[in-house]
Amino acid sequence: MTAAPSLPGWTHVSSGKVRELYVPEGTADIASASELLLVASDRVSAYDFALEPPIPGKGELLTRLSRFWFAQLADVPNHLVAPSAGGTPVPSSVAARSMHVMPLEMFPVECVVRGYLVGSGWAEYQETGSVCGVQLPEGLSNGDRLPEPIYTPAYKAPQGEHDENISFEQTVSLVGSDAASALRDLSLRVYSEAAAIALERGVIIADTKFEFGRDASGRIRIADEVLTSDSSRYWDARSGNRTESFDKQIVRDWLSAHWDRQGTPPVLPESIVSRTAERYRELIDRLGA
Ligand code: ATP
Ligand code: MG
Repeated sequence: MTAAPSLPGWTHVSSGKVRELYVPEGTADIASASELLLVASDRVSAYDFALEPPIPGKGELLTRLSRFWFAQLADVPNHLVAPSAGGTPVPSSVAARSMHVMPLEMFPVECVVRGYLVGSGWAEYQETGSVCGVQLPEGLSNGDRLPEPIYTPAYKAPQGEHDENISFEQTVSLVGSDAASALRDLSLRVYSEAAAIALERGVIIADTKFEFGRDASGRIRIADEVLTSDSSRYWDARSGNRTESFDKQIVRDWLSAHWDRQGTPPVLPESIVSRTAERYRELIDRLGA
């Protein structure tokens, strides 16, 4: 994995699978920081594994998508902050893939919303007729639209471990019942609002994952990336062809065909790398992001 770039004026505090977090130099930790710099790398991960090589330009495209959605969903509290006057400037080398954000106490829950039956949801439905404890009608096919969007949270495992689907009741034990209900309601609301906007532009958001945190005043805010082609499945609403999606399904499909998920994943071929970057760009064009 490529090391986090060192940025003048900023101290690197943590690396996620894709993003790097920095605090202003001289700040002890995230909690005491006045602002954070969240920098998206070009790394790509699938099935919770970091892959090689990076996808050129991906960090910038993801940041553009997140910014677009934060602006579209202006009524939902988010973690963006305006750079403070006299604050630490953002080096131009990472400006296009960085966001100034508020330090939040993150909930250890990946808030997944599914509007369509696909991927692990489809696999589970075939075995049990339900997805993450949500009973679904019989006779649904792969890729079908669900009667209504469902919330299927996952436990956000510490770095290096794999996330795990959990029931709504387990999220209550993790974060308390008020927060658990708020995360569910916000996730469903944001998904529906975004899915309607995307559909007007000819794109289906099949599913997505949100991360939320609490600010110093206790307010719940949407954080991390939002509705990017990493965190969401995007399909072309016009072609009806779901195999050529605008997201990293291309990477997942190639990996499934060339790797048994044991040991180190194989290096992605150039054709997959360029195709993925191209699809991410097409999505941005389609959405007008
Ligand atoms: P993935 O998103 O692929 O499941 P990940 O969330 O572990 O994996 P990244 O998204 O690359 O990895 O890392 C970003 C990290 O920054 C995450 O741990 C996320 O929870 C955290 N984060 C995002 N926004 C904030 C914020 N405003 N305050 C504090 N931490 C944040
Ligand atoms: Mg994340």
